[in-house]
Amino acid sequence: MFPPDTPARVERAHRSIVPIYAFLETYQAWKSAGRDDACDFALGNPHSVAPEPFVSALRDAVTPRSADWYAYKINERPPRDLVAASLRDLTGLAFEAEDVFLTNGATGALQIVFNALIGPGDEAIVNHPPWFFYDGMILNAGGLPVRVATTPSTFDLDLAAIERAITAKTRLVIVNSPNNPTGKVYGEATLAGLSEILTRAERKHETTIHLVSDEAYRAVVYDGARFVSPAKFHDRTIVIYTYGKTLLTPGQRIGYAALSPRLDGREALRRMLTSSQILCGWAVASALMQHALPALEHLSPDMADLQARRDRLVAGLRDGGYETRAPEGAFYITPKTPIADDAAFAGDLARLGVYCLPGSVVQMPGHLRISVTANDAMIDRALPRFAAARAAAAG
Ligand code: PMP
Repeated sequence: MFPPDTPARVERAHRSIVPIYAFLETYQAWKSAGRDDACDFALGNPHSVAPEPFVSALRDAVTPRSADWYAYKINERPPRDLVAASLRDLTGLAFEAEDVFLTNGATGALQIVFNALIGPGDEAIVNHPPWFFYDGMILNAGGLPVRVATTPSTFDLDLAAIERAITAKTRLVIVNSPNNPTGKVYGEATLAGLSEILTRAERKHETTIHLVSDEAYRAVVYDGARFVSPAKFHDRTIVIYTYGKTLLTPGQRIGYAALSPRLDGREALRRMLTSSQILCGWAVASALMQHALPALEHLSPDMADLQARRDRLVAGLRDGGYETRAPEGAFYITPKTPIADDAAFAGDLARLGVYCLPGSVVQMPGHLRISVTANDAMIDRALPRFAAARAAAAG
């Protein structure tokens, strides 16, 4: 499958994303079999046209105001200022513009951080089940992902297990709240507890351990739940964000990494993150997106809409006989499959024109991952098909 002299690091990184890659091929095959009435819950993609404020922000930003409008950009001052101000509002911490690194989405932001912090053999703690690209990106940076299971059934962080997993080689811990795939939003007590553990471990091992806070879905929380950034509790925090989830425009890439103002050694890290942006293949938001950012920064997702879809899906799935939790945040509902083979069950659903991600692809075997970003008509059509597929599988 890999050419014979593929370096071990490269092979491990690529091998780690084979399941999602294989699913994407299956998904393309489902789509090209071409049912007009398909209901697509497979990925966190939009299924309605992009909102007008987003389109007009880009239309406005596309017109050059100066000769260097489309010159090489790294981190432009006006969008950096705005992001720092938003982070100050969000956290009450004195975030500074110089600590904001504007990247091509959260993936770029994560990779520049991993490349700046991780050396050969260094360890990065990943809470399980994780977003499907963390492992590959850590391996790509030369490090080793160390999986720590979250607490069964609640999916809260297992602080004692994290503490046990930390070694002298641990360079960072990734925390993703609201979580993809579990929908968990971590509470203040958990985050305060995590900070204590990290501080204690740093003292014990005489090392520095960064908390990398993946806040991709921080604007997507349900039932009035409140997102709290781990940066409020832990000084050595790097915030990762993307506009792709908030605006539901993941193909038009912009996001950032931001250093907490309480992180010591920020000046050296600033230089490293900027050079990582270049070394990671110009992991920089495009000129157009940097110009558009001031008009995008204050847009928020249509939470009434997302909440209504989450509620309909959760209630409809339960009525159809599925056992499922209601996510507190992010885009995904993860019902149990009626048979253990989640990929086979996703195949049954696909034959009915309902596309879902098999849970085993996101380390949740025996489940499906269903995105609430499907449109209402898809949900209307899909609920009876979900019920029929379950009845057939149980039957
Ligand atoms: N982190 C999480 C938890 C995600 O779900 C995603 C997108 N699926 C990303 C990071 C990457 O975001 P982006 O598309 O902006 O790179």
